[in-house]
Amino acid sequence: MIAIKGVTKSFAMHGKSLPILSVSDWQVEQGERIALTGPSGSGKSTLLHLLSGVMTPDQGEIWVHGLPIHQLSESKRDRYRAEHVGYIFQDFHLISSLTARQNVELIVPHNWTKKQAKVQVDDWFERVGLQDRQHHRPAELSRGQQQRAAIIRAIIAKPQLILADEPTGSLDWETAGDIMSLLLEICEAEKLTLLTVTHDLHLADMYPKRVHIQEINELPRREAG
Ligand code: ADP
Ligand code: MG
Repeated sequence: MIAIKGVTKSFAMHGKSLPILSVSDWQVEQGERIALTGPSGSGKSTLLHLLSGVMTPDQGEIWVHGLPIHQLSESKRDRYRAEHVGYIFQDFHLISSLTARQNVELIVPHNWTKKQAKVQVDDWFERVGLQDRQHHRPAELSRGQQQRAAIIRAIIAKPQLILADEPTGSLDWETAGDIMSLLLEICEAEKLTLLTVTHDLHLADMYPKRVHIQEINELPRREAG
């Protein structure tokens, strides 16, 4: 599903190149659900950005679902992301002027019929327990409800890879647990590969597999900056 070989990434800071990530060999199987842990500033979000194709590596190869992401042009990477990756953010990234349902409808695949889209969207709102809130705007929803809507948006088109960057980082602990179970349950049922960054070790323990970033990033730990 995911294969990373010899990948390095640095950022330019005050005229100097600052190495952030160096991963010589890492693989994730289709359908694995992995919690990625590690200290702040250790390159977790950078790794997710490389996998989603919003950033390119300085060197090395990134293969996702048989596609060489490191070789794709920017427009092909945009298309790859739209078709193959569902992204879940800490702060939801819902469009504030649209209702929860409209936020989801916006990314329903174009080749679905109206009927098919309606059935699927109805079904997902029920599945995440948000059926009576679907016509609310984000500001009229709790943070947990906003993240449920964002999960539907990330998952409805069944991308093979779900990337979640601190998806419960702005939720209270009880809601965080509920959201994490929902995400895990959906990805297991739909056989989607899930890679979730979390600094909460209790939440990471809910995952069948945990990877600490320093197991794969060969660079020495730097102070967060
Ligand atoms: P984490 O998600 O583990 O907290 P990040 O991957 O966000 O860490 O960042 C790792 C390091 O790279 C941090 O020191 C951060 O300041 C730096 N960094 C991240 N993105 C950029 C960028 N676009 N430009 C410059 N530095 C960056
Ligand atoms: Mg981060």
